[in-house]
Amino acid sequence: MAAALPVLTFHAVDKLASVNSFSPQLFRRGLQRLRQAGYQTIPLLEAIDCIKHQRRFPERSLVITFDDGYESVYRLAFPVLQELKFSATVFLTVGIHPTTQLEARLPSLENRLMLSWREIHEMQKYCIEFGAHTLTHPDLTTLSRQQIEVEIGESKKRLEEATGKAVSSFAYPFGRFDERAREIAQRHFACACSDKLGIANLRSDCFALQRVDAYYLRSEKLFALLPTKFFNGYILSRRVPRTVRRWFRK
Ligand SMILES: [Zn+2]
Repeated sequence: MAAALPVLTFHAVDKLASVNSFSPQLFRRGLQRLRQAGYQTIPLLEAIDCIKHQRRFPERSLVITFDDGYESVYRLAFPVLQELKFSATVFLTVGIHPTTQLEARLPSLENRLMLSWREIHEMQKYCIEFGAHTLTHPDLTTLSRQQIEVEIGESKKRLEEATGKAVSSFAYPFGRFDERAREIAQRHFACACSDKLGIANLRSDCFALQRVDAYYLRSEKLFALLPTKFFNGYILSRRVPRTVRRWFRK
């Protein structure tokens, strides 16, 4: 049993020049490599259960997540996940106007095509779960408490109505949150993912869960590093430059 568990974050699986793009070829090859190394996926909520009960994670396990709900998740990532028998959680930004007609798509982010409800329902039949990612993808730290409540609470409600399943997980847009957002997320969900860079462990905060953005897995060599003891060191070494970059971006 393992004391640490990588929770990987992908966004779109495409070849656009964007930090949110991840190469479809590398997605396939990287995950195949992890499969060959004996990795299996566990559902996010199982990982949270382990943390809450201080029970170690299954050996060589990982969690795969996708933020936002891009169409490429269905078209390019889903077939690979099915082939490798990997599960995943997709966090959806559902929009203000509730339309759950099967062919309707989620509101566009980054000018990309998003998932349709038909695609969401189809993935739901396999091992893909859906979590909330607000109505409009705002930086929650810039909103009033009431607005945060609407963005979080309403997104959960609409997603549950549309999927017919309980929605227990949430991801903060841009990974950004404050005490108010955290407190509201805690009222609605069993966990909330941040973009805090790190490998989840039994001391992880279930409402500020650290993840490994796929940005840090941009070569097959980095996937090969994941099962080794060096991966943790690599991730730790990326934290400082990332904090500096973010500071300059403000
Ligand atoms: Zn997002």
